[in-house]
Order: sequence, then structure tokens, then C-alpha cells
Amino acid sequence: MRSHLLNGLTAEHYRRSVTEGVERVAAKLATTDRPFTGVTVDALSPRIGDIDLDRPLGDTTAALDELEDVYLRDAIYFHHPRYLAHLNCPVVIPAVLGEAVLSAVNSSLDTWDQSAGGTLIERKLIDWTAARIGLGPAADGVFTSGGTQSNLQALLLAREEAKCDDLARLRVFTSEVSHFSVQKSAKLLGLGPDAVVAIPVGHDKRMQTLALAHELERCAKDGLVPMAVVATAGSTDFGSIDPLPEIAGLCARYDVWMHVDAAYGCGLLASLKYRDRIDGIERADSVTVDYHKSFFQPVSSSAVLVRDAATLRHATYHAEYLNPRRMVEERIPNQVDKSLQTTRRFDALKLWLTLRTMGADGIGQLFDEVCDLAQEGWKQLAADPRYHVVVEPALSTLVFRYIPSGVTDPAEIDRANLYARKALFASGDAVVAGTKVAGRQYLKFTLLNPETTTGDIAAVLDLIAGHAEQYLGVSLDRAS
Ligand SMILES: *Cc1c(COP(=O)(O)O)cnc(C)c1O
Repeated sequence: MRSHLLNGLTAEHYRRSVTEGVERVAAKLATTDRPFTGVTVDALSPRIGDIDLDRPLGDTTAALDELEDVYLRDAIYFHHPRYLAHLNCPVVIPAVLGEAVLSAVNSSLDTWDQSAGGTLIERKLIDWTAARIGLGPAADGVFTSGGTQSNLQALLLAREEAKCDDLARLRVFTSEVSHFSVQKSAKLLGLGPDAVVAIPVGHDKRMQTLALAHELERCAKDGLVPMAVVATAGSTDFGSIDPLPEIAGLCARYDVWMHVDAAYGCGLLASLKYRDRIDGIERADSVTVDYHKSFFQPVSSSAVLVRDAATLRHATYHAEYLNPRRMVEERIPNQVDKSLQTTRRFDALKLWLTLRTMGADGIGQLFDEVCDLAQEGWKQLAADPRYHVVVEPALSTLVFRYIPSGVTDPAEIDRANLYARKALFASGDAVVAGTKVAGRQYLKFTLLNPETTTGDIAAVLDLIAGHAEQYLGVSLDRAS
């Protein structure tokens, strides 16, 4: 069994095993002609259920053969140009290489004595990101598992900085289309059930700052405590970017913590063309960035940044066995002092190799391409009488709805759109997302693949229309 332990004696076995796995994936990528096979839960679950985990196969080749059957064959492939559903990006090769290196060395970024150079690399990437945002000389931050954790940590800091013992009086203001992790965080942080105040958005899906001003005023009048405003720089559905400068002005006026959730919009930090769309982000107290959404990084890779490093102390605890207080005096950099996690992956290495290999401009160029593609897709949809498209994209999503001619019942149109999405998924020809807008069923393209073309968009729109028409044909038949 020791032959399976990775060490100096097994280096050759390691090389062969990993190469064999890489060969399989490479072959898969080269031959995958659709984003999904359309496999159903019922078809797949016995294949996994029947496996006896107490009877190992013994060798890599057999395990990989089995993996082909239970996973690789039917996985959802984000690299495919017709995967258009969620905020999953195709990944860049330097980052995948980083993933292979980081898991083999297996540094843990909680303490210096478990990572050494890894700690410094992570810190440099945090400084680089903070500088791109423009957070100023006192900025700091830490890598996290994702935007959800970044938002939670930012709101923890905001809660502590609000210095209010009565948690029931704290209020968090965020747009009605912000990410649900804001609500989840409020719950985890012990805030009251009414803590999160949803601010309406305009037709452009951006927070209405007049409404925000009104709510902040009302909060003060009611003797409540404004804890944070969470602005969204790239809403999950629409990619809409809240008016950051105006929000920053209101936060300054009412002395409220400004958090910018740029989980999606952070790609603009590297953009060569559209960086100005997130102007104002430099005025934030904290920022969430998800490199695994718009920097073409594998899951997980994310960070929370703060304007004032001192605020990170709210996440600091000292344990004698790990990061005793004396280490702070000895200036030993222990990232666990800033993190909600203890043992933590060296995800930063992926971004490091990406920047050292292709550079930030390379990432920015790819992200610009998908923003441009979304603009083209918006024109296609706006000119297509079969569809209603909600809003011109500021990033790279399109939310739209198939509107059949001659059908006026909105509930029937909902069902046709829902059916089309499901039928498309079952076919595996393309994968699209769905969402609700004003209570009605819509469909969504999240465009993060520069390999997707306007031709792909046109083809998928035809497929959707075909499925929806088939459904309506059937349901009209049933009705008559
Ligand atoms: C995806 C997303 C999140 C959550 O990030 P995870 O990495 O999935 O945890 C938060 N906010 C916004 C706007 C997002 O799009």
C-alpha cells in the first residue's frame, strides 16, 4: 500500500498515474461533441450506487475505467461552446497546471510553517488584486472558497465595525437582484429576520440609489443601525452593475460599510476595454472577487479584499498549537489570522501561474471577448420576434423568454420556456439556465466561453424555439 503514498520513492508511479489520468481527460476533451449526454438521475444513480467502496479495484487503470463509466462520460463539460448555463468558465491551462502542482505539494495556507513561499505568493496576489481595485495602501485580504464565503466574511467585519450589541437593530441594504448569500450571511451572523432590506432596481436591474437613500434615511429615523450596503458589480442573472460612485457617496454620508460583491464583475479588473464599468469600486470597504467565475480559474479560487487591513482582526483567534500570539510579534505571516478557514488550499497558485504565463491582459482579453459576444447576442435577441430579452448586458449574460405567436396566456408561455430548457438539457445539445423575472419564467445564457460564437447562439435559439413549439403543439392538441 505504501506504493500509493506520494514521496521520493514513488515519483515514477506518480508521474505515470497522473499522466494516465491527464491522457484520459485530454482524449475526452478532444472527442466531446456536446456539453452533456443528457443522462438522467435514474440512469446514473445505480451505476454509482452499485459500487462497493469496500472492494477496491487495486490499480489506477481499472479505477479510471470505472470513472469513465460513472463520471467522465456523462459529466457536464463547461469547456464546450454550447454550455451556456451558469457562471462556470472554461479554465485556462496554466491554472490547471497550478491545480496539479498545488495538490501534489499540498501546502496548507493557514500558517507559514505549513506553506512558506505559498503564503508570500498568496499575499502578493492579494496585493495585486487590491491594487487593481484601487483600495489604497492599507488594503489586505485573503483567498476564500468562493463568493459565498467572501460575502460572509465581509459582512462579519461590517457587523463588528458597526459596534452595535443589539443585532436585531442592524440592517443590510442590497438590491433585490443581489446574490442570496447576502441573506444567508445575515442569518449566520445572527441578524434579525428583517435585517436585509431589498432595494428596488430599475429596468436596467441596477440598484435605485434614490430608494437606497430613502431607506438609509428611514433606518436612521427608526433608530436602527445601518450595518452595510452590499452593492453588486455583476448580478448573477443580469450582470448588472450597481451605480458604485453614487452608492459610495451614500455610504460616506451615512457612515455605512460599503461592500462590493464583484464575484462576477471582477473580470473587468483585467479588462482592456471595459474597466470603467466598475469605477467606484475603489471606494469600497470590502470587495468579493471570484477568480473562478471570470478569471478562467478552476473551482475554487476566490478572495475577499478590505480597504483597512486592521478590520481583518475580527476573524483572528490565536491557538497555542497553531498561531500563538507571539508569532504576530515575531512577524511570522500566518494567513489563518485573516481567514474563516483553518486548513486551506493553495488556490492562489493557479492565479499565480496564470498571471506569470499569460498575464492579466490575456485574461482581460478573454473576458472582453465574452462581453462583446453578449452584446452581439443581445442584438440577435432584440431583432428576433420569437424572443423577449430583458436588458442590454453590462457583462456577459442574456436573460430572455420565448414568446410564441398566438399564445397569450403567460402561464402557458412559462411552461413552454420551462419545457424548452428541460428538453434541451435532456438532449445534451446545449445547456442553458432559467430564472424568474417579475414572476415569469425566463431563460438565461451565461457567456463565459470565448469559443462560443454568434452562430452557436443562433443555433441554440433555434433549438429552444423548436422545443417550445413542440410543447405548445402538444399542449394545443391536448386542449382541442
Ligand atoms: C456566484 C456569486 C456569488 C457566490 O459565489 P460562489 O463562489 O458560488 O460561492 C456571490 N455573488 C454573486 C454576485 C455571484 O454571482
